[in-house]
Amino acid sequence: MSNLSCLTVKCENFLHFLRFWCKLSLDYVGFATLPNQVHRKSVKKGFDFTLMVAGESGLGKSTLVNSLFLTDLHKDRKLLNAEERISQTVEITKHTVDIEEKGVKLKLTILDTPGFGDAVNNNECWRAVTDYINQQFEQYFRDESGLNRKNIQDNRVHCCLYFIPPFGHGLRPVDIEFMKVLQDKVNVVPLISKADCLTPTEIKKLKERLREEIDKYGLKVYQFPDCDSDEDEEFKRQDKELKESTPFAVIGSNTVVEARGQRVRGRLYPWGIVEVENPSHCDFVKLRTMLIRTHMHDLKDITGDCHYENYRSQCIQTMTSKMNADKRVESPIPILPLSTPDVETEKLIKLKDDELRRMQQMLQKMQQQMHEQDL
Ligand code: GDP
Repeated sequence: MSNLSCLTVKCENFLHFLRFWCKLSLDYVGFATLPNQVHRKSVKKGFDFTLMVAGESGLGKSTLVNSLFLTDLHKDRKLLNAEERISQTVEITKHTVDIEEKGVKLKLTILDTPGFGDAVNNNECWRAVTDYINQQFEQYFRDESGLNRKNIQDNRVHCCLYFIPPFGHGLRPVDIEFMKVLQDKVNVVPLISKADCLTPTEIKKLKERLREEIDKYGLKVYQFPDCDSDEDEEFKRQDKELKESTPFAVIGSNTVVEARGQRVRGRLYPWGIVEVENPSHCDFVKLRTMLIRTHMHDLKDITGDCHYENYRSQCIQTMTSKMNADKRVESPIPILPLSTPDVETEKLIKLKDDELRRMQQMLQKMQQQMHEQDL
């Protein structure tokens, strides 16, 4: 066989292969890999979640957070005496921990509100909390409207666990007021704290009472999304159980004890052991499941789509009406001056421009050559 006919056979084989591949491609475009691409990108980027804990001091907020995330948040906390607590100002404390599990990174920020309930004037505390939430929205709004929108850090508060004491007969006026202040800014998840102080019947009664009062006072606490009808039966059962258990009654502990031959997080009493992760002792596992495994994304979505959107639209409205009223272009959000590129940056831009020009010329040349060959 001559060289020419050998080449023709090879070309025909290649064309045959190409046709076969194209036919395959028609049946399988490849977008089924999209979830994998999203997954890979998100895992690479990592996740962030900001959780606020609020409620009177001493209700077990830090202990619960430690139990939830297996951390030791306040190891260097100095407990104040009564006099110091009266004079202390309400301020938000921020703890950030980087957690990694099976290669997935989570930057968890916990915001504590010490001084709540200690301050004689609760308004000061509410103002501190709402100011903080608004500041994070404002920062996000600025970043979104700025030049570098690619790497915005999301410090918005995604969830607020509000601790209700187990001792009362329902919500106290201070609880109602605080939840009302927060409800349009953040996802509020009410919790009955120190549930080991109550019997199962008392917990049931208190939960019913709280649910009634939440309805009665029109409090907008976090609503679990409806379960899709095509979900499997086990998922539907879990979802129903989760919803029926609200407000969760929780127990926290910083210590590990021995129970039924196992080392568990629990509280050791003269009459027995209360296990934090035992579903028949409290709703700790349900809270953790909801917060971390099943609803973290929904909490973040609602923060962005609902609470932040409210803030953003209000902000834009204020800006527009201010501009109309003043007839001056003045914005409540100061516009930062554009930075002028320095000499090094300009040099780099010029080099990149030259490189781009060279590549364009090369491409044109190649196209011309191919065209000539075709002729
Ligand atoms: P915070 O001020 O709200 O952060 O409360 P802490 O976490 O510092 O807890 C205050 C006290 O309550 C500590 O002595 C804890 O050991 C105790 N405590 C925390 N969680 C529980 C709980 O679930 N049940 C009981 N009985 N005590 C708890």
